[in-house]
Amino acid sequence: MIFNKDEALPEAEKNYIHPRRLTMIQMSNNCMFCENPQGVSYITHVVLEEKMGYIYCKECMDNNNVNQALEIWNNYLSFGEVHYLKDCTIRVERSPKIGDTTPLIEGGWKLYNPITRINRDFEPTIHCYNERLELYKWCLIETIMRLNPKEDMSTIEPLIEL
Ligand SMILES: [Zn+2]
Repeated sequence: MIFNKDEALPEAEKNYIHPRRLTMIQMSNNCMFCENPQGVSYITHVVLEEKMGYIYCKECMDNNNVNQALEIWNNYLSFGEVHYLKDCTIRVERSPKIGDTTPLIEGGWKLYNPITRINRDFEPTIHCYNERLELYKWCLIETIMRLNPKEDMSTIEPLIEL
């Protein structure tokens, strides 16, 4: 089944199985998609560094349950609320330096990790990177959405070049 990225996630997929952290797992008779899996289990990661992904049996691999889950993840759910910025060059707030009175905005960043995280102030964040500067940082999703509005992707250009 192929879903169109521009359409909302179909109603029928409300029971979607989310990727989970795969550590210390049993590599047989283990499957996230069915009740009584038999035999060898297989793994596909959605984020290798975080060991996040799916474990499944051969039957679920063959009947397309796994491919469908991966497709929905890639087309709708990865990167959470900022999914629309996947693969885009985005603006982020520069980490304040001594003497800065207002935050500066930098272009040339991208979303890095498709798993969002809650920071210690209970705000959702996402990991971003700047390839040219070889820098990574966690940015507030709220800020990313404000600086890179969905309504007008054409305005997304760097305000300052580094
Ligand atoms: Zn299964």
